[in-house]
Amino acid sequence: MATTTKAAPKKAATKSTSKTATKAAKAPKVPENTEIAEESALNELFIDELKDIYWAEKHLTKALAKLSKKATTDELRGAIQTHITQTENQITRLEQVFDVVGEKATAKKCEAMAGLIKESEEIVESTEDGSITRDAGIISACQKVEHYEIASYGTLKTLAGVLGYAEAVELLDATLQEEKQTDEILTQVAEGTINQSAKTEKA
Ligand code: FE
Ligand code: FE
Ligand code: FE
Repeated sequence: MATTTKAAPKKAATKSTSKTATKAAKAPKVPENTEIAEESALNELFIDELKDIYWAEKHLTKALAKLSKKATTDELRGAIQTHITQTENQITRLEQVFDVVGEKATAKKCEAMAGLIKESEEIVESTEDGSITRDAGIISACQKVEHYEIASYGTLKTLAGVLGYAEAVELLDATLQEEKQTDEILTQVAEGTINQSAKTEKA
């Protein structure tokens, strides 16, 4: 007599699904092809852009120090001071990137940053010492600078990835995040009190 062994009824949906499948699926952040065509035109472009932002950061430390002295509120002065410290660290990071790509750290004049710095000086000249409008102007100038840097580091990070400089990607991203954060802080400072207070100031 055949005894039928009944299969035990499956309990509905126990959550033990396969654990192995998901692990390997994550794509690496950086392309695994680390073959770098060091003589490629794209590599040359990357190095050129690196020299450009290196010049920009070096000149920014001085320009930001001047702006912080001209600022009216302690809040803005503090925000700029914090970013000066970050900028000094960003210069060190760039030197590390030069090292990663086997190039000597060299600065090449960034015409755009030179222009933005000049514009910041004009803004200071055209606003009254001790006015809140001065701070609104300085914030405007600083945010233009941050946006130029965000664009530059975004591109540099992407190019570093394409060229296979994994270590450089990390370094450039760390700076990119700082520039974005600074831009946000400046927006908060402007929208917090400065814009409203400046609104009632006489020309
Ligand atoms: Fe910077
Ligand atoms: Fe530039
Ligand atoms: Fe910056």
